[in-house]
Amino acid sequence: MFVSRSRCLFDLQSIAGRLEEVQARIKHASQFGALPRLVVVSKTKPLSAIREAYDAGHRHFGENYVQELVEKAPQLPQDIQWHFIGRLQSNKVGKLLKGCTSLACVETITSQKLALVVSKTWEAQALGSLARLRVFVQVNSSGETLKNGIDVDHCAGLCRFIVNECPGLQLGGLMTIGAPDSSGCRAVDFETLRQCRVDAAAATGLELAQLELSMGMSNDFERAVVEGSTSVRVGSAVMGARDYSE
Ligand SMILES: *Cc1c(COP(=O)(O)O)cnc(C)c1O
Repeated sequence: MFVSRSRCLFDLQSIAGRLEEVQARIKHASQFGALPRLVVVSKTKPLSAIREAYDAGHRHFGENYVQELVEKAPQLPQDIQWHFIGRLQSNKVGKLLKGCTSLACVETITSQKLALVVSKTWEAQALGSLARLRVFVQVNSSGETLKNGIDVDHCAGLCRFIVNECPGLQLGGLMTIGAPDSSGCRAVDFETLRQCRVDAAAATGLELAQLELSMGMSNDFERAVVEGSTSVRVGSAVMGARDYSE
């Protein structure tokens, strides 16, 4: 079935069609700036669904759970760029880095301790490779007690620690989830993350343009793009609603 929209026609019943539609919306929202990356969040979704997006040309995917990612990654094409976007425990770092050989980015560094473990584990298994592992610092921009992420006030310090003390890592930017306001948007938190980037750049000597902002999900990615997101993480709007009943 084709659903008519003002700009274009998209088959919203298929993953490929929704992918196209979301990409068009990102492009539209970013019309005055660089095109942000779309990370398709595939948690709970089967290999066949990921393959469908892959066959439509998509390469960046995000997963939340180490066990799920290390089961899926080896069964899928090796040129997929995986983004780890879930809560990461220190004792799972080895499993993640070993089990996912095409890891593009760990977006959820939340402490110095975790940064050091990831850095050391990466260096230990890099075997002479000079490439650093790209990481983002996850910021709890909304200050919710149960939400993963470092406090806004400690973000710049953690960024400096990664740059100065973690030779296995390359600081690529900041990530946040935020809390939806009454409109379902996270606009205040997007602004907070932008300010964190200013502070992180000052603390590290990096340019603003060297630090990405990973923000925006299915319900608010267009707003996030308008607010300066360079990487949106979209799950259900592309892959369909998640079923947690099993
Ligand atoms: C699940 C998840 C997403 C995607 O959520 P949707 O609302 O389905 O787009 C993005 N980021 C993180 C950290 C997630 O856990």
